[in-house]
Amino acid sequence: MTENLKGYKGKGKELLEKNKINIWDIIQIKTGEGDYEGIVLPRTEYSAPDYIEIKLENNYNIGINASDIKEIKKIGKKEAHYKIPEKTFPKSKNLPNIILLGTGGTVASRLDYTTGAVIPSFTPGELFSAVPELADICNLETEIVFEILSENMRPEYWQQLAQKVEKAVNSGKDGVVIGHGTDTMGFTAAALSFMLRDLSIPVVLVGSQRSSDRPSSDAALNLINATTVATSGIAEVVVCMLGSSAHDYGLIHRGTLVRKMHSSVRNTFRTIDDIPLGIIREGKIKIFKKDYRKRDKSETKAQTNFEKKIALIYSYPGMNNEIIEFYIDKGYKGIAIAGTGLGHVSTEVYNSIERAIQEGITILMTVQTLHGFTGMNVYSTGRELLNMGVIPGRNLLPETGYVKLGWVLGQTSEPSQIKKLLLENIAGEFIEREIPIAFNYNIDQLLKDKKL
Ligand code: ASP
Repeated sequence: MTENLKGYKGKGKELLEKNKINIWDIIQIKTGEGDYEGIVLPRTEYSAPDYIEIKLENNYNIGINASDIKEIKKIGKKEAHYKIPEKTFPKSKNLPNIILLGTGGTVASRLDYTTGAVIPSFTPGELFSAVPELADICNLETEIVFEILSENMRPEYWQQLAQKVEKAVNSGKDGVVIGHGTDTMGFTAAALSFMLRDLSIPVVLVGSQRSSDRPSSDAALNLINATTVATSGIAEVVVCMLGSSAHDYGLIHRGTLVRKMHSSVRNTFRTIDDIPLGIIREGKIKIFKKDYRKRDKSETKAQTNFEKKIALIYSYPGMNNEIIEFYIDKGYKGIAIAGTGLGHVSTEVYNSIERAIQEGITILMTVQTLHGFTGMNVYSTGRELLNMGVIPGRNLLPETGYVKLGWVLGQTSEPSQIKKLLLENIAGEFIEREIPIAFNYNIDQLLKDKKL
């Protein structure tokens, strides 16, 4: 019985056990807030404890805290069908060979239509059943590298992924697609961009905001678009996700400039400070930026060294020296700051910043406005920070700054080299200047006005 309560912990598990309720049972629940009827769903091992998750009749999944439950009873059972039909993925000599590396997240889930449970996928055969269009684009191989929600990503996993990509390139694959949770896709895209600078094939990160049971799911179209981009001539790490809420096109974003900007809409990814690299619509790619790395036949060597003792901190009113002191005392090697405005922190923390730099900790300043550049010469406070040795991160997104700092500190511990590398444009993370349309671009409008 316990074994079957997959993913259940704490009070949620106790309550189900006590009432002899199992996964796939249909139950009725009474709470102070209302009554519910639905099917008990399995949970992932990362789910919060104490909750019971059910699929309601209207197909929505809800989590109910066991402490709020006044009455619970089983009224029936609905069996799950774990398998979707597995058809052989056809192979064609004329199509490119693509590998899909799965890391988890919503896009790696397929749905059991009877019960609504989200079950980690995917063999090529299952994907072919679910998205048959993929077979017109490529010969597909899949490998599940991790099965995690992307908030659980870590630098070691970025390193492993970069090594997998290196192996894929050097074993003759024509492109790599990485299925990834959307929440931290920007971090992984940046990390892979730094680790795989001499790429010779496309590496395309893709996810989905809506699971595949919902009619509005973006999973299939995103996968089709991303796989097509993986067969293109763009030999860079990019993110390819829906660009509009109507399911009509995907945008291709450079890995070091991309950010998730909305917690739930499907067109959540934006290139920040620039326009996207390109667009994909009905299988056709249009490139907006001419300065991209082109596909070639060279080998790729992943440079995965990464200093993990680094932090990303947000500057806020009320911040004090203790915050930075903590990282100094814990032996951190670098701190990326998401500074206010042009790259500021309160003068309250100047002492600790000075101490950090004296003790050899690298401090990189980025802007929490996301758009725009650091401008640390504008106010005397900014100049003071520069004089202390804070390095201005120009247009770096805070998370790209954090990742770049870890990567740079993984390559060298020599202070002048660290500074040189941090100020160098390594993976397209710096833009020369911000073109006026880059702030708040509207791709539909720009295309209509023939500006792109
Ligand atoms: N929390 C999930 C993740 O990032 C959401 C998603 O898959 O988009 O893994």
